[in-house]
Amino acid sequence: MLRTHTCGELKKENEGQIVSLCGWVSTTRLLGKSLAFIDLRDRYGITQINFNLLGKFSENDSAEKKQSGWESNLNLINKLGREFVIQVKGEVVERKAKNKNIPTGEIEVEIHSADAITILNESKTPPFTIEDESDGGDELRMKYRYLDLRRTPIKNNLLQRHKVGQAVREYFDKNGFADIETPFLIKSTPEGARDFVVPSRLNPGEFYALPQSPQTFKQLLMVSGFDRYYQVVRCFRDEDLRADRQPEFTQIDCEMSFVEQEDVLHMFEGMVKHVFKKVRNLDLPKFPRMTYADAMKYYGVDKPDTRFEMKIVDLTPNPSPKGEGSENLVRGKGFKVYDDAELIGGICAKDCAEYTRKQLDELTEWVKRPQIGAGGLGYIKYNADGTLKSSFDKFFDEASLKKIAEKFSATTGDLILILAGAETKTRKALGELRLEMGNRLGLRDKNKFECLWVVDFPLLEWNEEEQRWFAMHHPFTSPKKEDMDWMYNGYTEKNSAHAPKANAYDIVINGVEIGGGSIRIHNKELQQQMFKVLGLTKEETEQKFSFILNAFEYGAPPHGGIAFGFDRLCSMVIANEDYIRDYIAFPKNNSGRDVMLDSPSPIDEKQKKELGLK
Ligand code: ASP
Repeated sequence: MLRTHTCGELKKENEGQIVSLCGWVSTTRLLGKSLAFIDLRDRYGITQINFNLLGKFSENDSAEKKQSGWESNLNLINKLGREFVIQVKGEVVERKAKNKNIPTGEIEVEIHSADAITILNESKTPPFTIEDESDGGDELRMKYRYLDLRRTPIKNNLLQRHKVGQAVREYFDKNGFADIETPFLIKSTPEGARDFVVPSRLNPGEFYALPQSPQTFKQLLMVSGFDRYYQVVRCFRDEDLRADRQPEFTQIDCEMSFVEQEDVLHMFEGMVKHVFKKVRNLDLPKFPRMTYADAMKYYGVDKPDTRFEMKIVDLTPNPSPKGEGSENLVRGKGFKVYDDAELIGGICAKDCAEYTRKQLDELTEWVKRPQIGAGGLGYIKYNADGTLKSSFDKFFDEASLKKIAEKFSATTGDLILILAGAETKTRKALGELRLEMGNRLGLRDKNKFECLWVVDFPLLEWNEEEQRWFAMHHPFTSPKKEDMDWMYNGYTEKNSAHAPKANAYDIVINGVEIGGGSIRIHNKELQQQMFKVLGLTKEETEQKFSFILNAFEYGAPPHGGIAFGFDRLCSMVIANEDYIRDYIAFPKNNSGRDVMLDSPSPIDEKQKKELGLK
């Protein structure tokens, strides 16, 4: 080895030892003419090198010798640029000025001669500073990702990711799961995105698809009898651009046989807890459950951030639109917006009654942005003196406002924010507004982890545009027992009102979905019916899925599973943030490009011809 120690490990106990270190020159500082400091960096840390340029000479040494020693030392220091790779041999000594911020801050390695340094490789000046806060922009750092990865925050993310992976594997190994690889060159697996395809040279004009997930393979492994399977596996989805979505990403893919939903939830809740314990030394309490219906109703989204309350309150009179026989707080007051809206709902922001006109205008603009899409924002201020003031005072007297405030359990000092409009869109907008207010009020605590299971997802959704049913999770998800009849007799209905539910579940941490799965269909006939409900013809079903339908004829056990987004799990566990790119060594940018490789790129004519593409 070229080194005896790393740049992160020398302490006071090593004082007096002659050591050899290798690393990258982070900085060099010249102090007058006789002393230089080098910060030497590697993956493990930084060690200060104290270079006495005057050298170490005996009394008998001539002045010329001393002079030339000093000159060659100075030359070397002047030559050493940032990011040069060097080896240094010297003695560990106690530092005079200690640095409490780094583990090696009590010592330095002392050298006296240029001979103590071997330049292992030179470096051009890097295009951005390799520091915690770099001066390089996104695109530049992506282009030189290998340099970006030298920066401590990104480097630590990847090392922590390794730890998460190890904890996951440890848990699965302990619980009897077998790690089995499945192929990448396959036929489409429907997870709702477009496939990436690969042309086959040996079969001109034909294509493989890259897996959107190993879904069908893991089910086939259950048919084979492997009963507990997992794989940390790359998946590929050609989806439309969205911030921080990667066309290739990693899943922790899992499947179990002879289980019901409860068994699956229990097993994988255990995995998440194990990871948090191992990586962050945190003991998470039991994960609560919430139905999909409640998540949508109270949080406006299927992945609620439950670190804070501020639940959505529905003001729409139900069941009668005109309010007869039900509580009617908002309709029939002459306010057309509320009279006409399919849904009227709001949230109560505690202690925000003192929001200024300007703040409210700004919030109104915020909800009107195309991403949120609300028509406007209504509000009621419950003033400190007990009076109520609203944006629709023209139509509502104070007693009516008070009734609404009661519905929100609002008290003096609170601000009620109301949105109205088409059901789905308004619910979603309310969910977004809730999160935004959570942010503004500092309620989304970085040190808090609220995990939960969202259960009872609908099996199918009616798509108005295409006039057909879509699988909410994927077509292999089993309907709940009580909804079997619908699968045969009810599916011709063209709306989601009575659509069946599935034993499908998502796991959510702080408003981020980190995984999802379901109990599967394991019966050929039901699977065929599912394809029929989804609008596939017999021929299409045969052509695309005969392999799994055939397999179901040879003793398929009841089974179910889940897949976690590994990148997302890492970003949540490590930093409680939803930004996966910083946890992937070589990610793609927002347009799906690898700017370092400059890929995708055209291929030459010869290659095209070979592939039968021309
Ligand atoms: N294959 C599913 C997915 O990728 C997960 C599962 O159902 O296990 O979302």
